[in-house]
Amino acid sequence: MPGLEDLYREIILDHYRTPRNRGELPVPPARHAEGHNPLCGDEITVYLDVEGDGPDAVVNDVKVSGQGCSISQSSASMMSAAIKGKTVGEARALVHRFEEMVGIEPKPGAELPDADVDLGDLEALQGVAKFPVRIKCATLAWYTLVEALDSPASDS
Ligand code: ZN
Repeated sequence: MPGLEDLYREIILDHYRTPRNRGELPVPPARHAEGHNPLCGDEITVYLDVEGDGPDAVVNDVKVSGQGCSISQSSASMMSAAIKGKTVGEARALVHRFEEMVGIEPKPGAELPDADVDLGDLEALQGVAKFPVRIKCATLAWYTLVEALDSPASDS
């Protein structure tokens, strides 16, 4: 009987082999941020086309480029698919849910977003919680996303 771990491995490999939302967006108007995980050599650049301001702004488009291990690149692919079309508030809530899943404690005093979000395929990455070194690979795309969200909106 194929176990859940086999299913998760299939999902991870699928996103690694056929990454979603691969590419770049012109900057400006897109926001972007670059992330690097020196422990593994993973590199990820996140491009965001955000319409509006504040938590209700909508992520109209997202593109990801970079290279690295299967965990980092599949996490980036899943992240891009999960946040596209969502609001900035929902995207931040997803970041938090993902951290929670891989066992990262929220910073003391951190404001926890309270949006109803579904991890979907991202649940396939929950196994990395057992491997502290891989957690950095899995979270790279998410911290790069946060940086891109926090970067000043370009003139449009
Ligand atoms: Zn890695």
